[in-house]
Parts: sequence; structure tokens; C-alpha cells
Amino acid sequence: MARTVTLIPGDGIGPECTDATKKIIEASGVKIDWEVRHAGESVFKQGVASGVPKETMDSIKKTRLVLKGPLGTPIGYGEKSANVTLRKLYETYANIRPVREFPGVTTPYSGRGIDLVIVRENVEDLYAGIEYMQTPGVAETLKLISRKGSEKIVRMAFEFARSEGRKKVSVATKSNIMKFSEGMMKRTLEDIAKEYPDIQSEHIIVDNCAHQLVKKPEQFDVICMTNMNGDILSDLSSALVGGLGFAPSANLGNEVAIFEAVHGSAPKYAGKNTINPTAVLLSGVAMLRYMGEFEAASKIENAVMVTLESGCITRDILGDAKGIPTTKYAETVISNLGKKSAKWKVRDYKPIKMPNVKLDQAFVVAKTRKTIGVDVFIESAAAPELIGKSVEKLVEGSPLQLKMIDSRGTKVYPPTGAITDNTDAFRCRLFMRDAAGEMSDAQCFDVIARIAKEHKWTHIEKLHEFDGKPSFTKAQGED
Ligand code: NAP
Repeated sequence: MARTVTLIPGDGIGPECTDATKKIIEASGVKIDWEVRHAGESVFKQGVASGVPKETMDSIKKTRLVLKGPLGTPIGYGEKSANVTLRKLYETYANIRPVREFPGVTTPYSGRGIDLVIVRENVEDLYAGIEYMQTPGVAETLKLISRKGSEKIVRMAFEFARSEGRKKVSVATKSNIMKFSEGMMKRTLEDIAKEYPDIQSEHIIVDNCAHQLVKKPEQFDVICMTNMNGDILSDLSSALVGGLGFAPSANLGNEVAIFEAVHGSAPKYAGKNTINPTAVLLSGVAMLRYMGEFEAASKIENAVMVTLESGCITRDILGDAKGIPTTKYAETVISNLGKKSAKWKVRDYKPIKMPNVKLDQAFVVAKTRKTIGVDVFIESAAAPELIGKSVEKLVEGSPLQLKMIDSRGTKVYPPTGAITDNTDAFRCRLFMRDAAGEMSDAQCFDVIARIAKEHKWTHIEKLHEFDGKPSFTKAQGED
């Protein structure tokens, strides 16, 4: 019986890529009912602010499986990326990006056997897109990383390693600087690695990971990262093996899976029949494996290897004069179905076991909690010394006292002797005078009202202790 798949041709070069992919999948013998739906630029133009219309959402709700061409994101008039919207609407929390060497695609790394997979967290981190202007000149983006999200993605990395017979998972984070948010992924690795004794694991600082990827990429097998780090390093990795034309991806969630290339809609090449459809095609191959069509998936992947090995390659690699048209490339892959390269092998795959992580909203519950103070963020063009003296005076007689003021995370009051170039955004940190005391909401509102008499407050952040541990980090220079 044919399985129904939602097909979103996409913008720019998208339709050429999905057309080639559809033809090759059909030629492999797999029966699919393609339900063609739209998203992206054409939909934005119709006035749908999300870029994803109801018909498309209805189709995805039914099929739970999407093959998608790239969607253009209009720049400068406020719409969110329809790509990100689709990933987030269906909680496709894992973005899997394989990176391997291909025949005929010569790069400075050719012959080194690069064959790695980046498992990128796909819905949290800075990509939540929660942004504010703290003052007219100071911007803020919230980086939200949950233990639940970290557990899902780290487990996915291990499960994915098992499904592809891989031996090592490297978790790359910036936990040395962002101890809470990036550290969450590191701590999760430390907690759950023991449940996967058959897979070796390591933690690596993400900047060193970038360095190692350029220096010795063949050392990596599976690399798991938070959203932004994974975004950047997966593009870097795809360049090691020939560029975006060879970079497929899968967005996996508990309910829905979306398969798409890493690349965008490359509008300047739209309709020219010159682009490389391999990235979308290999995304389609990953979709076939997800559907359990392992034989057809390997058949197509082998045919791609034979095609590239024969020198039938598109413009992005061979240049304008020698590049093969997109349609010719697709026809050649079809004619090579059933053939295998003697040199370029395709892995043996097993079905992936999706991580079983509990869905509780309150995923981590503290046994004890206490609110011990508040950070009040203010906008002020005054010198820190003046702000400090004024806030101290304003909170006199309150149960809270000013501990320090910082500018972009560096303590500026009481003065430390540091030489800082301040902005007009400051954070005033206030704790209960009685260290054993707990701050009530009334006391919190009172202290804001006091500060508001002389300063523009912009927002607050409560300071807690969860299970006796502070829920906040110190500023640079804070004791
Ligand atoms: P892009 O579309 O990925 O294209 C960047 C460059 O990569 C192209 O100019 C071309 O390089 C090369 N390229 C990409 N795909 C190729 C292919 N299949 N075959 C051959 N060469 C390929 O990135 P962009 O120009 O920054 O973004 C264009 C639009 O796509 C934007 O609206 C962006 O928001 C959107 N986008 C969508 C997705 C998605 O749908 N998931 C992802 C990224 C970007 P040369 O110029 O060197 O030939």
C-alpha cells in the first residue's frame, strides 16, 4: 500500500530538487502518494504571516511525514522563517545532518574518509527567537535550554549512533562559559552516557570542536550540539565534503518527521536546471529509511555513488562549462539504480529507536526552593557610581539591599577598578538583608516601586535557590 507523504516543493530551486527526488524515489519502486502542499514565500505573499497555511498543516497532521524543498525567508519585514516555524510547530526536536565524502567531489579533504553525523537540537536555544530591546541601543535574545530538551537530543544522538552502527558520540558545548544553558547538555551527557555502554562518548568544548573539524574531521562519528552551534558547525562540515549541494537533513520528532536539504532556495539558480539535487535526494533517502524502506534507500544511495563516480556531476562541482543539468543528473541516477560502486560503500542501517523521554511539563522538580532576591534591570545614562548611590538610598528601610550593579555582565558598582565601556542597560542585584529570609512578592513589588522613583526599570529576574543551589550566575568581578 502506498504511504502518503506531504510534499512541499518550496521556493527558488526547491521544485527542481523535489522533482528530481520524487522521480528517483518512484523509480526505486517505493509507492508514495505525494500530497503537494505549499509554504514559504508564495504563502507569505498571500498574507499568511506564518508562511505555513492551514491546508499544509492539515496535511502534515494526517501524513506525519514531509519531504520539503527549501523555503525562502523574506528579510526585513518581520515574518519568521517558515522553515523554523515548521520545525517548531511539530516539535521536530532533532536535526540530523550527515556529512560524508562523495566520489568525484574533490576537496582538500578528499581521501580522508570523512563520515560523520551532526545531531543538532532543533527547537530550543537562541532559535526560540525571544528577543527584546532592553533599551533603544541594547538588544537581548533569550537562550532557553531545558533538561527535557537536552535529554531528548542527547538520547537521540546515542540512538542514532546505534541505528547506523556508529561507535562514538561527541557532545560539543560552550559549557565553560554558559554553565547553566550549554552546561545542561554536558550534564545530561554525563548522566545518561552510562545507559549506552556500547557507544563511546566524550565532551568537547565547541570552539575546539570547530578547530578539530577543520584539522582532523575524520576523528568524529556523531557530534551532538545545541541549536546555534549545530547550525554553524553543520554548514562548516558540509563544506568539507563539497558544499551545500551534498548536505541532506532530517528533522525528527515524536509525532512528525520533516526531511529537507540543509541549503536554502538559492534564488539566483531557480529554473536554470543547473543546481545539485543530491542534498534533497539524500534527505529523501533518509525518509525512506525512516519509513522502513531500507532496500530502496540503499539502492538509491548506491546509484548516487555510481553516478558521481562516473563523473556525472552538477555545476556546483564541475563549473559552468562541464556541469551536468539537474534533469540529466536525475536520469543518470535512475539508470544506475541496481548498480553498486566497488569502492564507495553504503552503511548498513537498522531502524532507529526514538528516545522515550517522559513528557511531563515539570520535567525537573526541586525538593526545596527559596526566593532570595531580585535582579532589577534599568535603563540609565548616569554613571554607575551615581546609580549605585541612588539605588542604595531608594531601598533604605526595605528588607532588600543592593549587592552590586553590572553592565553587560561585568560588575561596575561598587567600583572594582575595572575599566569598562558601559551602555545604558544596567542590572541591579538585590538580596534580602537577612540572609535566612525569603523575599515575598510584595517585597519585590515594593523594591521595584522604590527604584522606579528615580530610574526606568525595564524588567526583573527573580533570584532563587533550587535544592539549596543558586539559580543564577555571578557577574564578572562579583564576589
Ligand atoms: P542558499 O540558498 O543555501 O544558497 C547559498 C549558496 O549555496 C548558493 O548561492 C550556491 O552557491 C550554493 N547552493 C545552495 N544549494 C545549492 C544546490 N542545491 N546546488 C548548487 N549550489 C547550491 O543560501 P542563501 O542564499 O543564504 O539563502 C537563500 C534563501 O533560502 C533565504 O531566503 C534563506 O532564508 C533561505 N534558506 C532556507 C533554508 C531551508 O529551507 N531550510 C535553509 C537556508 C536558507 P554559489 O553561489 O557558490 O554557487
